[in-house]
Amino acid sequence: MDTIEAILVAAEAACASVWTRLASVERTCFARILDSMQAERVATQHFAATTGYGYDDIGRDTLERVYARALGCECALVRPQIVSGTHALAVALFGMLRPGDRLLSAVGKPYDTLDEVIGIGEPADGSLADWGVTYSEAALTGSGNPDLDALHAALRSQPDIRVVLVQRSRGYAWRPSLSLAQIGDICRIVHAERPEAVVLVDNCYGEFTDVQEPSAVGADVLVGSLIKNPGGGLAATGGYMAGRSAHIARIADRLTSPGIGAEVGSYAAGYQSFYQGLFLAPHTVAQALKTASLAARVFADAGYDVSPTHDALRHDIIQAIRLGSPEKVIAFCRAIQFASPVDSFATPEPWAMPGYQHPVIMAAGTFVSGASIELSADAPIRPPYIVYLQGGLTYEHGRLAIGKALQAINGE
Ligand SMILES: *Cc1c(COP(=O)(O)O)cnc(C)c1O
Repeated sequence: MDTIEAILVAAEAACASVWTRLASVERTCFARILDSMQAERVATQHFAATTGYGYDDIGRDTLERVYARALGCECALVRPQIVSGTHALAVALFGMLRPGDRLLSAVGKPYDTLDEVIGIGEPADGSLADWGVTYSEAALTGSGNPDLDALHAALRSQPDIRVVLVQRSRGYAWRPSLSLAQIGDICRIVHAERPEAVVLVDNCYGEFTDVQEPSAVGADVLVGSLIKNPGGGLAATGGYMAGRSAHIARIADRLTSPGIGAEVGSYAAGYQSFYQGLFLAPHTVAQALKTASLAARVFADAGYDVSPTHDALRHDIIQAIRLGSPEKVIAFCRAIQFASPVDSFATPEPWAMPGYQHPVIMAAGTFVSGASIELSADAPIRPPYIVYLQGGLTYEHGRLAIGKALQAINGE
């Protein structure tokens, strides 16, 4: 056994009990998804391509009902025309908010790409700020957890709060992902203080990491990307919004047009990959979680700070590793790229990505361009030089790439 193999074997032994727990979550989520497909009587005809307006598109409508059940929601929009998670979040926010309303982020600063949507800093043309929607934040506590007192205080002092944004995943931040219990606490406080306010959960990277979704603990609207968890690695594009019917109707009017809402939208490539991807999603997510926990153990053993630790309960698929220098971040991302099935010959470089404030390096040698449910690594080039690893369609790929990344940062 060479050294890297010995390190991986030892880390796997340490992860064994964690993986037993992951397998149990996977089984629960899978059973719910299978039930959803059977309850909606999914059939081959639902996979068919449609064109034009897409009136009475049964593939689209059935997929949306399956998603609603799978996510524990009344209603869902699941659309290939939604280009990304940011787009889905922007449509949901613009759909729910009106001039004079206030958006409150309950867990500190939201995901980087929402800065320009909300108009944080320089209010961008067309941002929520430009439309007269104000914004405030309840900061996280020192340990990176929700500050429920600050949330209470904000709700009491700002009567114009209409939407409370809750990001389940850590995103590009060194803070824990939110458990369902924590999201439930936020929902309870918001609904008690302000019954008309809506809790909107950025569910990106969170789907099927736990036995239930945030809808089960009071969240009103969930939003996510199909090229992350729920697409199972098969969906080639798309996003979803799911939640209470009245809210989803408002969001549908924003997605298409007032008066038209959810009733239009065709897809000439057909819907099979969305159904099959959802069917695979709990397994794919479990593979990604196994990969993340292995990485946590391997890099912790190598002396780096990791978040979360290998044995922590995970509510997203992201593994943060504090590498401490730009050289190691770049070497790590390049090793992940070189271990990819697609574009393995490409050398990632930091670049000024639209929507991000610092240069970002991204490794994503993926079948679906940029899909971060596939093994990928990203890092904003800023101190303290943290790399974020996520995804992995198979554990075997994750394991191999982690070995290569460890070698690369050791300068081997
Ligand atoms: C990925 C992500 C987004 C944005 O999604 P894109 O598809 O990259 O636009 C928003 N929030 C969180 C937590 C994410 O992980």
